[in-house]
Amino acid sequence: MSEEFKIKSLSDFRIYNRIAYGLLIVLTLLVRGSEITKSTYFLLYYLISFVVLLVLDETVFKPNRSKLSALTFQIRICLFVGVVCFGAALTMLPPVFLGALLAYIFFILAEDMFFSDAFNTMFNYLKRFSLGLYAGIMLFVVQYSSQIKGVWMLLSIEAALILASVFVLSYAFYYRAIYFLDDRYTRLYFRNADMIAENKKLMNFQERVEKVNNEINYQKINLTKANDDLAKINEETRSLIDVMKYFSASFDVEKNAHYMLSNVVNIKETGAVALFIDKNVYMNEEPYLEVISENTVAETLLRQDIYNIYEAIKKRKSLAPLVLCDNYDFKYPFLTGGNMCNAVVFPAYENDYIYGVMVVTSSKYDFFENGYAFYESSIMDFTSALISDRLYLQTEDMAKKDGLTKIYNRIYFNQFYPELKEEVAKSGDTFTVCMLDIDHFKRVNDTYGHLAGDEVIKAVAKVDNDFAKKYNGTAVRYGGEEFLLILRGKGVEETLGILKEMHEIIKGNVVEFEDYRINVNSSMGIACYPETCSDINDVLDRSDKAMYYSKEHGRGRITIDGREGE
Ligand code: GH3
Ligand code: MG
Ligand code: MG
Repeated sequence: MSEEFKIKSLSDFRIYNRIAYGLLIVLTLLVRGSEITKSTYFLLYYLISFVVLLVLDETVFKPNRSKLSALTFQIRICLFVGVVCFGAALTMLPPVFLGALLAYIFFILAEDMFFSDAFNTMFNYLKRFSLGLYAGIMLFVVQYSSQIKGVWMLLSIEAALILASVFVLSYAFYYRAIYFLDDRYTRLYFRNADMIAENKKLMNFQERVEKVNNEINYQKINLTKANDDLAKINEETRSLIDVMKYFSASFDVEKNAHYMLSNVVNIKETGAVALFIDKNVYMNEEPYLEVISENTVAETLLRQDIYNIYEAIKKRKSLAPLVLCDNYDFKYPFLTGGNMCNAVVFPAYENDYIYGVMVVTSSKYDFFENGYAFYESSIMDFTSALISDRLYLQTEDMAKKDGLTKIYNRIYFNQFYPELKEEVAKSGDTFTVCMLDIDHFKRVNDTYGHLAGDEVIKAVAKVDNDFAKKYNGTAVRYGGEEFLLILRGKGVEETLGILKEMHEIIKGNVVEFEDYRINVNSSMGIACYPETCSDINDVLDRSDKAMYYSKEHGRGRITIDGREGE
C-alpha cells in the first residue's frame, strides 16, 4: 500500500469511525427506548464505553499517522469485544448482546477490510464475512423464537446499518481497487521507467563497450601495422648493415654501386633504380651509369633522361630528394611516356657538392608513403664508401705512378711485368716491349736547366701515355728519361708502325719553357715475343739492347730486335 493511499485511508477511516460510533450510540438509545431493556446501567455503560472508545480511537489514529498495522486493529477488536461482552453480561440480555455483536462485527469487519492490511488474502476476507453472516442469522433466529417487542425495529436498523456498511464498503472497495490499480500502475510505470532507464544505461554501456572494443580492434590493427613496419625497418637496417659490410671489404666503387642498387631493388621491390655518377668523382674518366629495371621501357627512359635529371638537380641547389612524379602526377618533364606511377630523385653529394643522382621509380600507388629514409641512407652510405674508396685508389695510384709524369713508375712495372709475362705465357698471346730514351738529355738540363728538363720529360711521357691509351697498352717511366711502351697482341710490323708515328710526334713536339723552344728526339728499341725473342724472360733486355743499338748508330732512330742491321 502506498504512503499516499495510507494517509487517504486513515482520513476516510476517521470519518467512518465517527459515523459508526454515532450509529452505535443511536442503537444504544433505541435499545433502551424499546422493550428489550429498561436498564439504566445498560444505557450508561454503553454510552460511556462508546464515547471512551471513540476518544481512544481518535487519539490512536492521528491524521499524520500513515501506518495502520494489523496488530493495532487486533488489539482494538479485543478491547471492543471485552467492553461489549462485559456490558452484555452486566445487563443479562442475550438479544442485546447479539445485536451489539452484529453491529460490532460489521463495524470492525469493514474497518479491518479497508483500513488495515488484514484482508490481504481471500481466506481472511471469507473468515470475517462468514463471522458477520453467522451473527446476523443468530440474531434473526433469536428474534424469531423470542418475539421480543421492539426487536423488529432494532433488526430493521441493523439491516439499514448493514446496507449503509455495504454501500460504504462497496465505495471503499471500489476506491481501494482504483488506488490499488493506480498504485500498481504507478509502480509498474516507474518500474517500466526504471527498466527503460536501466535499458538505456545498459545500451549506453553496451555502446561504450562496443566503442572500446572498436578502439581496441583499431589499436590492434595499428599495433600489427606498427609491428610489420618495425619488422620492415629492421630488415632494411639489417640490409644497410650488410651493404656497409660489403663496402668495407671492397674498394671497387662500381661493384659497390651495383651491390647498393641491388639491395634497394630487393628490399623495396622498386620498379627501376638507376645511379648516375659524374666523371672524375672516383678517378673515373667517364661518367658512370647503372640501371636495374624490371622493364625495358623504364630502363630506356632512365638512360635517356638521367643526365638531364642530374643537371636539373645540380641547378636546383638543394640536397633534398626531388619528387619527379607523385601517383601519376608528373611535376617535371622527365621519365614521361612509360607506366611510371612514382619517381623520386635522391642527390648523391659530398660536402654539399652533388656528384650524381639515384633515381627510384615504381608503378605502385603510394609507393613512397613510408618516406625516403632508406634511400637517403643507402646513397649516403655509398658516398662515405666512395670517399674512402677514392682515397684508397688515389693512394694506390700515387704508389703506382710517377710523381712528375703521372704514368706508371718502375716499382709498379716490377710488380706487373712478371704477372704479364705469366699471363701471356699461359694464354699463348704475343706482346711487345718498346724502350725509349731521350737523346742528349743532359744537354737539355745543362742548357735550359733542370726545370726545363722536367718539362721535356713530361712532354715525352704524355706522348707515351697517349699511345698506350690509344693502343690499349701500358706506358712506364722506366728510368730518368727512359720510357717503355708495352703492347699486347701486336706483331713487330704493327708495333713498328705505331712507334714510327710516336717517334715523329716526339720529334715534332717543341717543348716551350719560359722563352725557350726545345726540340726533342729519341732512340727506340723493339723486342717482340715470340716473334723476335722466343724466351719471354729476355724480351725487356732485348728491347734495351735494340734501343742501345739505336743510340750507338746515330740516335733518333728505331731498332727492331734481331734486325739491327736494317
Ligand atoms: P744519351 O743520348 O746517350 O741518352 O745522352 P743523355 O744525355 O740523355 O745521357 P743519359 O741518358 O745518360 O742522361 C740521363 C740524364 O738525365 C742524367 C740525369 O741528370 C738526367 N735526369 C734523370 N732524371 C731526371 C729528371 O727527373 N729531371 C731532369 N731534369 N733530369 C733528369
Ligand atoms: Mg738514359
Ligand atoms: Mg738519354
